Amino acid sequence: MNPRLIGLRPWLVRALIPPQHIGTYVLYTADGVPSYIGRSDTDLRRRLLRHCTNRRGAYFTYDVHHSPLNAFEVECALFHTLAPEITNRIHPDRPAHQKACCVYCRSTQRTVRSHRLAPQARQINPSTRTSEGLR
Ligand SMILES: [Zn+2]
Repeated sequence: MNPRLIGLRPWLVRALIPPQHIGTYVLYTADGVPSYIGRSDTDLRRRLLRHCTNRRGAYFTYDVHHSPLNAFEVECALFHTLAPEITNRIHPDRPAHQKACCVYCRSTQRTVRSHRLAPQARQINPSTRTSEGLR
């Protein structure tokens, strides 16, 4: 599925995005290849207008979110999915004053899996089964 790319022009950004919305975006090259992802927890429109000036991309796509945490999760998904193509080298930063962690990072997945597998591992342990049988 190809996203519908929008020209990165100030008038288009102003026409489409109201001020002071939380959002995520992807910038694309003139060939339509993703080149950069980002997020604004305060004003997506202002951030994209800045990108119009620094000419970081020719096109963009965007999403508006209810909360910085929601935007962070989407930004993480974009970061991990588009990692081979985009120029972002630093992992998305968590929103200010939030203890969020990226669910797409291997370290997080390992932690979740180890917590999930621990009770099951105890169940199939023969010594546990024996002691339960004696009760
Ligand atoms: Zn991550």
